[in-house]
Amino acid sequence: MPLYRSVGGEPLCLTCTYYADNTCTFPKRPDAMDCTLYDDVRKPPTDIHSSYKSTFRVKAWVERHIGLLALLGLILISLLLVLMR
Ligand code: SF4
Repeated sequence: MPLYRSVGGEPLCLTCTYYADNTCTFPKRPDAMDCTLYDDVRKPPTDIHSSYKSTFRVKAWVERHIGLLALLGLILISLLLVLMR
């Protein structure tokens, strides 16, 4: 786990994502000069999120409709068995 340290005498919290969205509950806030949870609010967004989200959505949809998918599978197998006779 990395320990981020302030450079230049300014608290890390001033540029931290968790300070900006008010979700930090660390007691050092807002004057932390070092922190293990620091996340730079100025970092550029990554494109990895979009592909991850679409994969996650498909998995979530399958998990939510697993009963329907099982029923459709049984119907398909039944139809194949009838057609093969
Ligand atoms: S996570 Fe650390 S740097 Fe960020 S706001 Fe909280 S105490 Fe400050």
